[in-house]
Amino acid sequence: MSSANTATYSPAQLHGRACIHCGTTDGPLVPAGYVTTQGTEGPLPWAVVVCSDCRRGGSSE
Ligand SMILES: [Zn+2]
Repeated sequence: MSSANTATYSPAQLHGRACIHCGTTDGPLVPAGYVTTQGTEGPLPWAVVVCSDCRRGGSSE
């Protein structure tokens, strides 16, 4: 048994209150789709956000 399969996201990141990439809570934060973590009964999807800096750096647009 292993307990190492944990996501590295903070609760704030999972609840859309902090950038999913860098963890900042400084806005503007925009929707960035979903990440999935492993819950006790299966995968859990979370709606996450990114800050404008990460969005610019990680987008092709
Ligand atoms: Zn960021």
